[in-house]
Amino acid sequence: MKKKIFQVVAITIAVSCANLAFAAPHWNHEEQATWWEIEDTSKDLPMKYPFATCGVGQHQSPIDLATAKFDNTKKLNKLQASYPIDPAPVFFNSGHGIQVNTSNDYKGEIKIGEESYPLIQFHFHEPSEHVINGKPFAAELHYVHVGNDGRIIVVGAAIDIGAENPTFQTVLDNMPHEHASQKTGANITINPASLLPASLDPNDLDFYSLAGSLTTPPCSEGVQWYLLSQVITISAAQLEQLKSFYSDNARSPQNINGRTLSSTN
Ligand SMILES: [Zn+2]
Repeated sequence: MKKKIFQVVAITIAVSCANLAFAAPHWNHEEQATWWEIEDTSKDLPMKYPFATCGVGQHQSPIDLATAKFDNTKKLNKLQASYPIDPAPVFFNSGHGIQVNTSNDYKGEIKIGEESYPLIQFHFHEPSEHVINGKPFAAELHYVHVGNDGRIIVVGAAIDIGAENPTFQTVLDNMPHEHASQKTGANITINPASLLPASLDPNDLDFYSLAGSLTTPPCSEGVQWYLLSQVITISAAQLEQLKSFYSDNARSPQNINGRTLSSTN
């Protein structure tokens, strides 16, 4: 089942890279204003514009959190992260960012109320995609989960400059520099939870939640976002190392279009 889920995610998220086996058009972050009009010349309408949602979608991510109204009438489920150590993570340079894919039989998941969503991969953007009053954080971490029904849940964490993050260093040190390439380290393990501050209770995370989309083509909607209230830190040197892979790989804030934020705070 995990294999199948991974294929779904690969198609949804990695399809955009022309260097991969999937025949999708090339895109980059510099041309994000016109992602919607990129053509797949091998297809007829309506498949000719595979990234149309990037332009016409009304629930696009990321957003400027300051533009959203709060709706505190919703009863929120508890967000519980159960991310054990992955004994064989795959370090994947996607061509658009650095990413760690969890191994095939990895059991890590996020629980929202009674629903469980397996952790498929996590990746980084520099600077952050979600901003507050137009101001980005140094970077942003996205944990991507896909349920058995195909629903995508992204848990996001803003990254500030501060104390060094040893788990992030493991990611940086094992990431291949070549675009669209991946590497599995011998005896390299990752505990995805240890990217988060030790002071956080993984069984009761505080968050802001809203409906949104993938932030890269095809910008598919129906993604539920959980942005953690507490920021995580990496050192200034680690930020420089992140930028040696990718810099400015963040999508600009999108229109809120009446969406509301729910929050545990
Ligand atoms: Zn992302």
